[in-house]
Amino acid sequence: MIPYGRQSISDEDIEAVVQALKSDWLTTGPAVEAFEVAIARTAQAKYSVSVTSGTAALHVAYSALGLAQGDEIVTSPLTFVATASTAILLGARVRFADIDPDTGNLDPAAAESEINSRTRAITAVDYAGLPTKISDFRSITSRNRHVLLIQDAAHSIGSLHSGKPVGSQADLTTFSFFPTKNLTTAEGGAVVTNDDDLARNCRRFKNHGLVRDLDSLREHDIGPWHQEVHNFGLNYRLPDVLAALGFSQLQRLEDFKAKRQRVFDFYTESMQGIDGLKLPSHIPGTEPMWHLYPIRVPASRRRAIFERLRASGIGVQVNYIPVYWHPVFEDLGYKRGLCPEAERFYTEEISLPMHTDLKHSELEMITEAVRKAVRYA
Ligand SMILES: *Cc1c(COP(=O)(O)O)cnc(C)c1O
Repeated sequence: MIPYGRQSISDEDIEAVVQALKSDWLTTGPAVEAFEVAIARTAQAKYSVSVTSGTAALHVAYSALGLAQGDEIVTSPLTFVATASTAILLGARVRFADIDPDTGNLDPAAAESEINSRTRAITAVDYAGLPTKISDFRSITSRNRHVLLIQDAAHSIGSLHSGKPVGSQADLTTFSFFPTKNLTTAEGGAVVTNDDDLARNCRRFKNHGLVRDLDSLREHDIGPWHQEVHNFGLNYRLPDVLAALGFSQLQRLEDFKAKRQRVFDFYTESMQGIDGLKLPSHIPGTEPMWHLYPIRVPASRRRAIFERLRASGIGVQVNYIPVYWHPVFEDLGYKRGLCPEAERFYTEEISLPMHTDLKHSELEMITEAVRKAVRYA
């Protein structure tokens, strides 16, 4: 089976991990520091906080803004469940706004209409790697000063919008380094921000809420061992061993991006004009690092086409089941029909394999199988 996503591990990556294992630090040492600096540079953000997953990154981001019971966020249903579930675990309510069917990204006007006095954040999701058009959401947050902009960029590290890297513009941006994502630390993630207070809150929450800097302590002159907990937190610390892998991977980000773009271009050129098949389109002003290649087919035949592709050895996926269709949301009272565009997108969508090591012969095999499946399934 050709997998839909796959990591790329070089000899340098392996050597970096071995060096970390031989060092004095297995966790929270120099590799974590170097990785965080490198992530901040890639994202062109002032601060970067590494964590143990993209899910942890979202949890940390929501905690950093103080999200709690009585608060609300607005987000897209066309995402992995963690974008919403981490807010709900903090006691907040999630309002889903519909997507732009051309891109799969959150529709700014739909998001704005879900804002009220309890809204603390809009979480935009960079679906398939296509970066959110920040200027649209910035005009919303400037009209609604109590609302922060979070970007779930689990798919899109390395993408640019208007020449600016993902991570440089939202109030908080979260990344995932799961093996299928654009780069990997096996499990891992990061939050980036330009805001001093949000960065400090992120650092504290991922490390039990511990406060150690002298200026912030409530009690002084207790002894060199003294530390304090001012807020409850968790242990989401990324080990040095994994940060070393991430740092090594980051050196190849542009190479990964070019290879993913070649896969995108091959698919797009060889499947142009097939009846009943809709391909992802290039959006002006964006330079995406493609994480997925989402095709859309008639909903009535999606299952047959999907099963035929799987039977031909192609590891297709569907991204995503609308978040509020999951039973846990149904039990909270969310009803189907809430976001018709996202639901339609889901019923038509199939993700083709997209990773750096796809061979030309595999790409030809995949596109030929799609052509046949769309015609005969
Ligand atoms: C993968 C993903 C996450 C969660 O990241 P993990 O590292 O798997 O915890 C969150 N949001 C989106 C959109 C994702 O694709």
